Amino acid sequence: MFTLAIVGRPNVGKSTLFNRLVGKRLALVDDQPGVTRDLREGAARLGDLTFTIIDTAGLEEADAASLPGRMRALTERAVDMADASLFVVDARAGILPQDEVFADILRKKGAKVLLAVNKAEGRQGADASMDAWRLGLGQPIPISAEHGEGMGDLYTALDALR
Ligand code: GDP
Ligand code: MG
Repeated sequence: MFTLAIVGRPNVGKSTLFNRLVGKRLALVDDQPGVTRDLREGAARLGDLTFTIIDTAGLEEADAASLPGRMRALTERAVDMADASLFVVDARAGILPQDEVFADILRKKGAKVLLAVNKAEGRQGADASMDAWRLGLGQPIPISAEHGEGMGDLYTALDALR
């Protein structure tokens, strides 16, 4: 089964997207220690595509001091487990230095990456999507995980990747 890791800094909407793609088809949570416990796995569906997705859920509990190391550890673990990664940034917050750290991790790993610009509903997404080109991860895909916008473009990109 094709596996897609959803990565990105806290609060960009990773879990909202996870929930949209997985719906109620949540996989059983493995009783595993450490970072693996903080990765949530689910059976995702987008159109006629079915795949496994991994959400880096453990970032939600991290305190500010431990966050950078935790983000790196969880992201590397998720990316290593997956066939490709969906890197999510936030159109409302814009592209932040932390996003560039993620982009570097993904580029250095040579991971197959799709770049989604979330919270892009309405007119919000255009500026952030243009700015996201500078992350060097290919064409940014504007989406709204909350409102279900951009799912067609996400489908097309994912279909071409797998
Ligand atoms: P995570 O920390 O990356 O998993 O982010 P969450 O999925 O927990 O979402 C963080 C916040 O962003 C929540 O308040 C969501 O309701 C909100 N959010 C998620 N997706 C969207 C979106 O498409 N548009 C807007 N406006 N808000 C969103
Ligand atoms: Mg989350």
